[in-house]
Order: sequence, then C-alpha cells, then structure tokens
Amino acid sequence: MSTRRFVLGLDLDGVCADYTGGFRAFVAGERGVDPATLPDPVDWDWTRCGWGIATRAEYLDLHGRAVAAGLFRDLAPLPGVSEQLWRLSEAGVRIRVITHRLVVSGGHGAAAADTVTWLERHRIPFWDLCLMADKPEVGADLYLDDSPANLTAFAAAGRAALVFDQPYNRAVPGPRVADWPAAADAVLAALPPAG
Ligand SMILES: [Mg+2]
Repeated sequence: MSTRRFVLGLDLDGVCADYTGGFRAFVAGERGVDPATLPDPVDWDWTRCGWGIATRAEYLDLHGRAVAAGLFRDLAPLPGVSEQLWRLSEAGVRIRVITHRLVVSGGHGAAAADTVTWLERHRIPFWDLCLMADKPEVGADLYLDDSPANLTAFAAAGRAALVFDQPYNRAVPGPRVADWPAAADAVLAALPPAG
C-alpha cells in the first residue's frame, strides 16, 4: 500500500476562480461602463486585451485596488470546481493550492486572508496553500494551470501539467482540459495504478 499521496499543484485564478469576471466587474465599475463592453481577453498581456489598459503599471494599479476592495474574497467559482475537487480528494489526491497573488505590495494581508476565506466559503478541499510565483519550485506530481508563462516553466522544468483552457492560452501545447469534469477525469487518469 502506498504511503505517499499523489500531489496536484492547483492554480486558483482562471482555474478555480473567475478572475476575468471579477476584474471585469471592478474595471467597469471604476469607469462607469457596462461590463459587457470589456471583451474576454484573448492575450495574457492586459495591455493587449482591448480594455484600454495602456501599460503594465496601469494594470497593476487597477489589480491592486481591486484586491484591496475584496476581489479575492468575491470571485465566482468556476462551474463544478468544488464537486470535482472533492471527487479527487476522495480518490486520495493531495490538493496543493499554488497561487501567486502576492503581486502588489501593501495588499498581501487582503490577498492572503481573502484567499483562505474564499477557499472555505466555496468548499474547496486542500491540504497545502502556497503563495508563491515560482511554481516549479513547489513539488507536485501534476500541475493544473492557465498561465502561459507558468505552463512554459513547467515544460522547461520537466514537470507534468494540464492546461486549463482559457481564450488567452490557446497557443500553449496540451494536454488541455476544457472544464472541471474533464480536469478531474484527466487527473484521475494520471494517478499511478493502485496497489
Ligand atoms: Mg491562473
């Protein structure tokens, strides 16, 4: 009988939580415009997503103010995430949340506290919570992420990863999963044989 659990390195934004939707609502509110006027980003770079964000600094300012206003507490969960993660947990998978989120200085208290509040509110099972940018440095048997930069880093480090499909990561090579039922199926298929 195996004593070591299979570790899933689980990203939050764009995988478990609808960052695009929450950030869209914040930016629309700031500008007094209809959120529907802000299209789905098809590029990871927010200065190229058609929202009129001119520079990285402007994005970071908006993001930092959104976090201070409770963005990470209020994001909508993606469909099926809790149910499918419980399915994995019950199959013996050790869920290790690995999220950057500590991007803007001064907002780390809100980012960390709101992340834990959100995970509990939406009944996301997890064993470990890692708030760090260099994800390949965190051990995991399989990663699930949406960021082109992270997915490229996993490949470069020889780490197994699944691409959680988003309009801004279509150029990244797979394996790719389209939604939470497919993601959980793919994780279960990657587990070593029992015994
Ligand atoms: Mg992400």
